[in-house]
Amino acid sequence: MLSERLDDFVTLAREIFGEEFIPLHRPVFGGNETRYLTGCIESNFVSSAGAKVGAFEQAVAEFVGAKHGIATVNGTAALHVALMVAGVTRGDEVLSQSLTFAATCNAISYIGARPVFIDVDRDTLGFSPTALRRWLETHARVENGHSYSRTTGARIAACVPMHTFGLPVHIAELSALCAEFHIPLIEDAAESLGSRVGDRQTGTFGAISAFSFNGNKIITTGGGGMLTTDDDEIARKARHLSTTAKLPHDYNFVHDMVGYNYRMPNLNAALGLAQMERLPAMLEIKAELARRWRAACPALGLTWIEAPTGTHPNNWLNAVLVRDRAARDAMLEYTNAQGVMTRPVWTPMHQLAHFADCQTDGLEVTEWLADRVVNIPSSVPENQFHRLIPTI
Ligand SMILES: *Cc1c(COP(=O)(O)O)cnc(C)c1O
Repeated sequence: MLSERLDDFVTLAREIFGEEFIPLHRPVFGGNETRYLTGCIESNFVSSAGAKVGAFEQAVAEFVGAKHGIATVNGTAALHVALMVAGVTRGDEVLSQSLTFAATCNAISYIGARPVFIDVDRDTLGFSPTALRRWLETHARVENGHSYSRTTGARIAACVPMHTFGLPVHIAELSALCAEFHIPLIEDAAESLGSRVGDRQTGTFGAISAFSFNGNKIITTGGGGMLTTDDDEIARKARHLSTTAKLPHDYNFVHDMVGYNYRMPNLNAALGLAQMERLPAMLEIKAELARRWRAACPALGLTWIEAPTGTHPNNWLNAVLVRDRAARDAMLEYTNAQGVMTRPVWTPMHQLAHFADCQTDGLEVTEWLADRVVNIPSSVPENQFHRLIPTI
């Protein structure tokens, strides 16, 4: 491998984005956002009872090809509810990636369950089916339709793969393994709205999936999230649990369990609805940007992370590999000093104090990647904004 050509990298970034300071990922507004938001304010419906919430749920569910969408205040809340309605309870084990954003494991911990960290693959940066098979064959036994750990005796109550930066994990293999071991599959699709495996969208393989619409994601509602599922009963429970578990009635307040105030407000849904109208154009522009970075990588001494054949990432955040941790730190130092934003991947969860005592399978690939992955600027370039103006 060539050594990284950092000056050329900065020059190319300036050429693509045409700006002095180049952020990693910023949202684009300027479509129907203002109109829809004003409509909410004028109608007095700003909280979760408004009509935009249902419309946004329908827009996202239709786009991904799921039967139901339940909008939440953020992606972490969507994951929390997803885990609860999948039946995860205190003391359970939940199979997770260590190479993920903290939200995945926080949601598991809210329930009093413990994450178990399984290694990732080098090609997808996500949950490895090979590592999962090895773990389950060594540790799991199936009894009465559930999986239990032979090591701890705890129930293995869910498996939560994450589509890192929008790169689809090997989800078909994971899904087959989870079915074999009777483990509910929940997709953390927070980063992968619009990513596909063949013709099928990520977020439709698990029993339940969670999306995020935080400010840095491919589309944003300011803060927001959504659960998707094809299962009527799961959808009903998720909606109930995230709406303070209030029983429907014209005027009485009766709740049948401890619920959560997790529903997305109308204002946020209005923003999301306007953003959804432009998602297809957004995906096109981001695919072009990814192709441009990819073509430049060899001359820059960087290794592009190639999505597996047959998968179509949403290119939310572009990522490259460098030689080693020292090269990574040199790149981060130089590019950020030049105003070209780059970022390392998250500190793996098992290296954080509060998850340090969780079980792991060794995590060699996780640690190898954590030393070498760098995210590079992935926003829509300003000279492409005109393609995001809606036609209605
Ligand atoms: C963004 C994100 C979430 C959800 O985050 P919120 O900020 O709560 O919307 C969950 N998992 C991953 C992997 C994420 O990147």
